[in-house]
Amino acid sequence: MGFRFVREMNLAMLGKQGWKLFSDPNALVTRIFKARYFPTCSFLDAGLGSNPSFVWTSIRNSQSLIRRGARVCVGDGSTTRVWGVPWLPDTQNPYVTTPEPTYLTNPCVHSLFVPNTLSWDGELVRDIFNTRDANLIMSLPTSNRPVRDVWYWGEDMSGDYSVKSAYRVVSQGLSDERAVACDVVCPLCGVEPETIVHLFANCHFIHKCWSELNRCWRMDYVDSIDTWIGAVWSSLPREMIINIIDVCWAVWENRNQLVFNNHCMDPKPLVANALRFCSDWLAANALRETSTASHAAVSSNIS
Ligand SMILES: [Zn+2]
Repeated sequence: MGFRFVREMNLAMLGKQGWKLFSDPNALVTRIFKARYFPTCSFLDAGLGSNPSFVWTSIRNSQSLIRRGARVCVGDGSTTRVWGVPWLPDTQNPYVTTPEPTYLTNPCVHSLFVPNTLSWDGELVRDIFNTRDANLIMSLPTSNRPVRDVWYWGEDMSGDYSVKSAYRVVSQGLSDERAVACDVVCPLCGVEPETIVHLFANCHFIHKCWSELNRCWRMDYVDSIDTWIGAVWSSLPREMIINIIDVCWAVWENRNQLVFNNHCMDPKPLVANALRFCSDWLAANALRETSTASHAAVSSNIS
C-alpha cells in the first residue's frame, strides 16, 4: 500500500513537469527538451530517443497521464485538428468518433464554422458527423472574438495541472484496473477503455503502427473486431495479412512489456522489428521446405 502510494504520487509529480513540456512551448525547459527529444512532434508523441537521460525517461512516463487529462478549449479553431484531438465536451471520450470521410485530410475545427464567422455551420456539422458528435459540437459555445485554441487540464476546475487532481486520476485508473479487469484504460494511449477492437484498430498507438506499415492505411473508426478482420482478410494480399498478424503480435507483446515492466517501444522500431522477424521466419520456412524437398528427391533416387 505504501509503495503504491509512493509510485502514484511520484507519477503525479512527474506529470507536472510533463504538463509544462506539453503546454508551455516557450518555457526554457521545454525548448531544451524539445530540441533534444521531440524536435518535430508534441511531447505526447515523443519517443525515448537514443541514450536518454534519467530525467527525460522519468518525465516521459507521464505521457499517458497527460493524455488522459489534457483537453482543448476551442477558440478560433485554427490550430485544433478535428480528428484525434480531445476537444469535445465529453469527460469520458472527448474525441470525435465519426470516421473521417476520405475526401477530407484531417481539417482543423475552424472549417466547421460558417465562413468568416466563429459560429458553427449546423448543416455542415450534421451532414458530416454522427448524432453523438454533432450534438456535442453544437453544444460547444463559440467565442465572440478570435482567440487562440488553448490546452487546459480537464481534471481540475481551474484548468491548471495540479498534483492533487493528477494523483486522483492515477489512483482511480489503477483501482479501476484491479476492480474491473475488462474495462481498464488502454495503457498505450491512456485515453479509451482497453478492448480488442480498440487495441488493434482504433488506438492512437496502433494507428501509428499501421501508418508505418502502409502510409495509405485508412484510419476509420471500427465498431467491431469481426468487421475489421473481415475487411482485412477480404481485401489485402496474403503477404500483407502475414505482416499485420505479426504487428498485432508485437503490439500485444509491447502492451505487456509496458504493463508489467514499464517499458514501451515506439511504433517505428516496433514495426521494423516485427517485419524483420516475419521475413526471417518466412526465409527459415522456405529453407526448410527446400531442404525437405531435396531430401525427398535424394531418397527417391536411392530407392
Ligand atoms: Zn489505446
